[in-house]
Amino acid sequence: MSVRVIPLRAGACLNLAAITERGAPWRVQAYPAGFTLILHPTRGPVLFDTGYGAGVVAAMRRWPGLIYGLITPVQCGPHDSAREQLRVLGFPPDEVRHVIVSHLHADHVGGLRDFPHATFHLDRRAWDPLRALRGVRAVRRAYLPELLPDDFEDRCAWLNFKPGGDALDPFAEAADVFGDGLLRAVPLPGHAPGMVGLLAQEDAGLTVLAADAAWSVRAGREARPVHPLARVAFHDPAQEAASGAALRAFLHANPGARLHVSHDHPEDWP
Ligand SMILES: [Zn+2]
Repeated sequence: MSVRVIPLRAGACLNLAAITERGAPWRVQAYPAGFTLILHPTRGPVLFDTGYGAGVVAAMRRWPGLIYGLITPVQCGPHDSAREQLRVLGFPPDEVRHVIVSHLHADHVGGLRDFPHATFHLDRRAWDPLRALRGVRAVRRAYLPELLPDDFEDRCAWLNFKPGGDALDPFAEAADVFGDGLLRAVPLPGHAPGMVGLLAQEDAGLTVLAADAAWSVRAGREARPVHPLARVAFHDPAQEAASGAALRAFLHANPGARLHVSHDHPEDWP
């Protein structure tokens, strides 16, 4: 048994290249808001994040979402949302029963409201520090509470982490999302609290979905520090550095694996 990973993008955000990688030019660049469609043999279409959606554009027209839009201008047209793209691919929104959420930044959860029958799988450590935040205090963490469905917490299935064993080294723990070994979440905290990546078992090998543990595939494979200014946005810079090192060590130990990060083009099989 295996899954099929289909990397997609729902909108983009504008950012200064120099902020995302030290030494890069000071010019504005569009970064795709990536999400992933995963075809699972028994669970149907599963999403890893959703990218932006119509709700994000609306939220940024109002205070305090306006601040988010000023810091990170968003491009997301009516046909760009995960919901519309899945519909075109032949998956009505009602058929999506599972969304695995890497972390709660607006560019990852902007489409959650579009999947009314989905269970949300995430690390409880991503939710607990944010759940009470509102207004400017929430926006400062790139968290826009109104993007979450009203029954969000009731629909959460907390990832159940267990010791990972030698094969997952250096990750000490993993959560086998459906208990079949096909999708295992691993902790990559630091960029945001409780962020997780996903190890997806495909026919051709392992695809590592590393969310925002790196801005680019290159930075995910080689240590490439971001600009010191970007560190201001990290929830926990020391934890972020440790997660980046763990990701690189895992990729080094698994040379057949390919890497996807949310804001870069997907990598081909090595
Ligand atoms: Zn993020």
